[in-house]
Amino acid sequence: MGVHVKPELIESLEEFGVKDATTCFNCGNCTAVCNLSTEETPFPRKLIRYLQIGAKDKILQSAEPWLCYYCGDCSETCPRQANPGEVMMGLRRYLTSLYDWTGLSRLFYTSKAFEIIAILIVGGLVGLAFYLFHGPMITDRVALNVFAPNRVIEILDLIMAAVLSFFLLSNAYRMFSAIMSVPFKGEDEIMARRRRHTLLKGIPLKIYIKEGKEFVVQFLTQKKFASCGKPEKKSQWIAHLLAMTGYSTVFLLVVVGIRWFQRDEIYPLWHPIRLLGYYATFGVLYGVTYAMIGRIKKSSTVYEHSHSTDWIFLILLWLTTFSGILIHFTRLLELPLATYYIYAIHLMIAVPMLVLEVPFAKWAHQLYRPLVLYLIKVRESSIANSIVNIKK
Ligand code: SF4
Ligand code: SF4
Repeated sequence: MGVHVKPELIESLEEFGVKDATTCFNCGNCTAVCNLSTEETPFPRKLIRYLQIGAKDKILQSAEPWLCYYCGDCSETCPRQANPGEVMMGLRRYLTSLYDWTGLSRLFYTSKAFEIIAILIVGGLVGLAFYLFHGPMITDRVALNVFAPNRVIEILDLIMAAVLSFFLLSNAYRMFSAIMSVPFKGEDEIMARRRRHTLLKGIPLKIYIKEGKEFVVQFLTQKKFASCGKPEKKSQWIAHLLAMTGYSTVFLLVVVGIRWFQRDEIYPLWHPIRLLGYYATFGVLYGVTYAMIGRIKKSSTVYEHSHSTDWIFLILLWLTTFSGILIHFTRLLELPLATYYIYAIHLMIAVPMLVLEVPFAKWAHQLYRPLVLYLIKVRESSIANSIVNIKK
């Protein structure tokens, strides 16, 4: 397939946080120093070269930006201060916007005002819904399930999850199509094009199923992150893992398990739901506070350049967690009115964060990374077994 060259591409990516790539003189130092770069999937130099020649199609089909966990080793050793780690981060934002067919992701990444207004609108609508439809505010005890019945919240949660899943999965399918379009080893362009037009990209379903564990393991452990960067950077992986697992736990508790999570009686300390809630709160608060302090202090290379979307995501996540903690305390202290008001504020922060971040911005990275690692495994497995299935 021919490469569509677009020399102005590198300038247009400044809004996504790609700033110093023009200074790169392609020495390859960054690729040599990166623990995660391999012969089959070399980066970041290759991606910077694509950027410099404006090869948008090649970038779209590249899995490599998702293989970088941004340890910063390459940026620290670059002789031209081209900041390859930050370039990879910017490319992940750019790719997220290319996968998204609605165009909203591009707007979030390129307009701070648009993102803030969107958050205010969604948060305002949640507040209005509470104002108009909340249940009786009982004041002689905390009765959260009278104020906001969990069966109603459960239905709204499931509707929201279905809508978000639709957007996220349709974007993920576009990513899958782009990445699996690259000719496999031993394939020519004509064979790749034929394969590209099939739903499963010419690979039997049984291979997708067989390699499914790769997705689960990578999603739950982020284990590639553990081998990314110098050993002293392990704390970044731990903070990331805590935030990610905490965030996923609370997402499941709220969306799938709200009828057990939001109860008017307080569970005993040892109860699994309460313990899971504590783990999720600790994990998110630790991971997010760690990242915020790092960005404020600019304590390492990876925190030197923050995009506005990084800050907005961290602030929304921190406020959601903090307001959740406040609700827990107002319930323990038996303060009914404070519980109801803080609960409404909590959802006015949490809902925009979920609606806007899950399919269109930072949160989508949680799906794209393990998905890419899984697709690479599927590709390797199908090549090893030589069972790419194309009807000629
Ligand atoms: S980004 Fe820096 S280290 Fe990497 S190839 Fe360019 S100049 Fe060399
Ligand atoms: S930031 Fe770390 S993982 Fe990413 S390309 Fe650079 S060295 Fe590799």
